Amino acid sequence: MNQSMSAASAAELARSAFRRLAMLRLPPTPENYARIWAELAQTGGNGHALPDGHAPAAAAAPTAAPTAVPTAVPTAAQASAAQGSLSPAPAAPVSAGVWRQMWEQGLHLGLIPASSVDTRLQQRAAQLLQLAQGAAQAQVLLGDNRELWQQFERALAQERGSVDGMLELFSMLVSHVSEVFAGDSAAAAEFGTLQQVCRRPLDGSRIELARSVMEPWLRRQAALQRSALEARATSREVVGSVLRGLGTFLEHNGRFNQSLQQDLGKLESGLDEQALKALAQELLQRGSELHEHGSQLGQSLQQARQQAEMALHRIRRLESELEQASQQLQQDPLTGALNRRGLDVAFVRDSARASEQQRPLSVALLDLDHFKQINDSYGHDFGDEVLRGLVQVARKLVRPGDSIARMGGEEFMMLFPDTDADAAQRAMERLLQGFRNRRVLHRSTGQRVEMSFSAGVAQIQGGESFGELYERADMALRKAKRSGRQQVVLATPGNGA
Ligand code: GH3
Ligand code: MG
Ligand code: MG
Repeated sequence: MNQSMSAASAAELARSAFRRLAMLRLPPTPENYARIWAELAQTGGNGHALPDGHAPAAAAAPTAAPTAVPTAVPTAAQASAAQGSLSPAPAAPVSAGVWRQMWEQGLHLGLIPASSVDTRLQQRAAQLLQLAQGAAQAQVLLGDNRELWQQFERALAQERGSVDGMLELFSMLVSHVSEVFAGDSAAAAEFGTLQQVCRRPLDGSRIELARSVMEPWLRRQAALQRSALEARATSREVVGSVLRGLGTFLEHNGRFNQSLQQDLGKLESGLDEQALKALAQELLQRGSELHEHGSQLGQSLQQARQQAEMALHRIRRLESELEQASQQLQQDPLTGALNRRGLDVAFVRDSARASEQQRPLSVALLDLDHFKQINDSYGHDFGDEVLRGLVQVARKLVRPGDSIARMGGEEFMMLFPDTDADAAQRAMERLLQGFRNRRVLHRSTGQRVEMSFSAGVAQIQGGESFGELYERADMALRKAKRSGRQQVVLATPGNGA
């Protein structure tokens, strides 16, 4: 391991120790420090646990209890400090030295970077660090440490408040965007997932999932907004040109009425034959002008209608492209099964529902047997056909709420909500039977090709992550392959098949 990796891990450990102490609301005593450091080191500290090579017992000998910290810390005197009172100075000089080094590292690598937003807190921590490097008494340090600790807790509470505020903002954004896509079923599923993701506790992978789910919807919202703006601009144009046409028509019509009124007046006052003829001609002339304006208006109305129809057509096309895009985002193009992104969305939705309703959820990982051989013997296109066929059979044989996703190549994952491991195993055996019965005909050789898959089934356990569940299903799948393929193996809880 190189120098920078080692420094990064030590910093991570120190930060985690500091945060964990604050979360558990443990007083910052040597004993508590030592315990937390030892626990962290055991779960992945890789020997970066204690300064000066004082690796905790847990790391040195995995069978030791996590609280058993090496000779360095703690002492009986320190143990009383865990109860919350300020601890007396550590009795043994070795303990004091190691405790002080831990404390220094906690400040240097844990608190100072963690409080980067609060510069006063950071300065105070730096001051204490200097003090510690001088010849200060451990007891004095403990007093100062407690005061700093309280400040850190307050800063942490503020940070929690900010996270809550951000979460609230995010869920407002989600509900706003989901209103825009009301009626789109793919959208409903993704927004359901986002609501789950918004819940505490937050972690990096959930934030990343939220970001990747939200981003395309925001883009689509922008596209929809553009199409709405276009529709509005077209309507304005159409209405404007109709109004302009009508105005011109009415203007001419008004003038015609006015002159008709005058002519009627002339008629009443009596006219000779010559004058009557001239009047008749004038009337005809004005009548045909009016007719022309009328037909111009008709034309512009016709044009406006065509414009409106074209705009409507464009908007409908845009809408259907958007709908398609939202489905494609979650779909494997070759087989139509879910892709990894679709699986993530479905898994978050199903696992949240399972834990809320205390119902089982099982997954199956399946891999086609000797698929390379099928490709080599019958060609890649035939192989593709087999992959599509598997998804078709699966769709027919599983329940509507179950999902199938292509993990890549010829490996698929199935999700069975509301199903325990035994029932999922039976479902997979039915699917295996259905798949084997297909015996697809290879067109050019006329051969019936036999195909099968191997699968591992695992039921999710409380608090298990997707990665852990996948790992157990994968171990069961590998066991199925080792035991001769064409079979479904159940993962054992906890330590795999
Ligand atoms: P095993 O029973 O141990 O799983 O043997 P296998 O031959 O199925 O396993 P292997 O992993 O060696 O081969 C997988 C093959 O799947 C290799 C690759 O060419 C093929 N493959 C991966 N993706 C596709 C695809 O999209 N289409 C086709 N036709 N073949 C694919
Ligand atoms: Mg494979
Ligand atoms: Mg295979």
